[in-house]
Amino acid sequence: MVKIALRIRCRLDNVEELRPCGPEFRWCLKFICGNCGEKSEKWNYISLDESTPMQRGSGVNHFVSKCKMCMRENTVTIIEDSIGSFTADDQGQFKTIVVLDCRGIEPHDFSARDGWIAKVADGGTEFADVDLSEGEWEDYCDKIMEPVGIYEIQHRFERIK
Ligand SMILES: [Zn+2]
Repeated sequence: MVKIALRIRCRLDNVEELRPCGPEFRWCLKFICGNCGEKSEKWNYISLDESTPMQRGSGVNHFVSKCKMCMRENTVTIIEDSIGSFTADDQGQFKTIVVLDCRGIEPHDFSARDGWIAKVADGGTEFADVDLSEGEWEDYCDKIMEPVGIYEIQHRFERIK
C-alpha cells in the first residue's frame, strides 16, 4: 500500500484560489502496474462519487483495474480529506491537491481536464466548470473588471510516508 500525492503548480492571474469542484470531480490519470511494470497509456477517470466496496474490510475503492499483462487486480482509493486547493500564495511551488492510496498500481500521468473552480481575487467572481484541458484558462471578471487566467499547469507525483 503506497500513498501518492498529486502536486500541482501553476501561475494565477487575478485568481485567488483554484480547486476541484467537489466529490463529483473526476481525476484523469494513467497508471503503471507495480507487479509487472505495464505502463498503461489509457486515461482513466476516478471520482469520489463513484466507489465500490472493498472485498475485505469496510473501505471503498474508487478505481479497480485488472492489469492486462499480469492479470492482477489493482485498486486505488481517493483520500477524501486530502483534497486541497492551489492558492495565489502557493505560486512558485508544488502543492498537494489530492492523495491516492494505491494498491498494486501507481499513477504516472495526470491531465487537469475540466470541473475546476476558480475564485477571482478581491471579491471577484467564482467561476465554475473551469476547463484546463489546454493547460491554461482565460476569462474576464465583470466584478473586478480585469482579465483573469490560469497558466503553465505542471504536476508531479510524490510518495508520502
Ligand atoms: Zn501487471
